[in-house]
Amino acid sequence: MSQNDEIIVCQKCGTSVKEIMETGFVGCEKCYDIPAVKEAVNKMFGGKRNPQKND
Ligand SMILES: [Zn+2]
Repeated sequence: MSQNDEIIVCQKCGTSVKEIMETGFVGCEKCYDIPAVKEAVNKMFGGKRNPQKND
């Protein structure tokens, strides 16, 4: 519930949480290490753990 979530950026690719929320795309696998991103992704993808893996 922190309003600072959106200014957090990924340490690896520099994508901001705000950007990820807006676009629905992460910059790299490290983005998932950000708790706010993980939470948002879980909501967006209905609990799928690896949305990038399509097999
Ligand atoms: Zn990243």
